[in-house]
Amino acid sequence: MFEAIASPWLVPFDGSFRYRDAATSPPDENGSKKALKRQLKKQIRELDELQYKLYAYDRYSLLLIFQAMDAAGKDGTIRAVLSGVNPAGCEVYSFKQPSAEELDHDFLWRTTQRLPQRGRIGVFNRSYYEEVLVVRVHPEYLQRQKLPDGLTGEELWQHRFSSIRNHEEHLARNGTVILKFWLNVSREEQRRRFLARIDQPEKNWKFSAADVKERGYWESYMSAYEQALAETSRPWAPWYAIPADNKRYMRTAVAEIIVNTLQSLQLSYPAVEIEQKAKFAQMRALLESEKG
Ligand code: ATP
Ligand code: MG
Repeated sequence: MFEAIASPWLVPFDGSFRYRDAATSPPDENGSKKALKRQLKKQIRELDELQYKLYAYDRYSLLLIFQAMDAAGKDGTIRAVLSGVNPAGCEVYSFKQPSAEELDHDFLWRTTQRLPQRGRIGVFNRSYYEEVLVVRVHPEYLQRQKLPDGLTGEELWQHRFSSIRNHEEHLARNGTVILKFWLNVSREEQRRRFLARIDQPEKNWKFSAADVKERGYWESYMSAYEQALAETSRPWAPWYAIPADNKRYMRTAVAEIIVNTLQSLQLSYPAVEIEQKAKFAQMRALLESEKG
């Protein structure tokens, strides 16, 4: 089974993760904008090549999960990091509030249908983790889910963590490489970005009064993230807590983890059978005889 690659942002597997220890800005602010831009360009090229190999190898799929507070930059990161990948090899899904049909199923149902096929990259912009994040911050949402045993409180969340761990372990055993990114923006940086959405006309469309209201629950969200990451970071489905206050840094940090992970899989182009090779010679002769 796939094993997580090392990174300063890897969330430990022993449950010791504390959000207060997680950085929101890069360790070294001196890294020049230009250098980061160049680095990302190189990573985008590498990622395109690796995706091609992933497709040819046809044993693994890659699932990238993004979770974050509003305005942390999920969309921009997904766009920037995957911009060079063949669109046929990659699919992005954004999960919003569940529909009536989705609420009539278990909480892993809707995302399961969107899991990537072997050889493909699937991106989840939000995911089943909302079920232990937004739903935990607003437990009244549970009423819509009409759960049979009416569990609430710690026991319910423990059941969900256990379901998620089992689900991810099952997927990993069957060839899904799962990488989970928490884009960790500071409350102050989120405030600045919301203000920019109000002040800059080209950003007005992104502004949402509901997002400003949600910010009022910051501490509850942080403790929900803390527990979710601590309970579900595993070697075969690691979480990475990426500092998100500097967008360029965040994007290269995410890209680096994806590139290094794909490289660690040692993907290769499938070897061709001897009989097939023998056919090559025949076919070459046939094609060459057509020339003149
Ligand atoms: P953007 O604002 O950048 O377009 P977004 O992901 O914030 O992207 P919105 O439509 O603003 O999209 O918000 C989607 C909302 O749906 C979020 O508030 C999220 O918490 C909520 N949501 C997602 N999954 C669930 C879920 N399973 N249960 C309840 N709410 C959910
Ligand atoms: Mg939103």
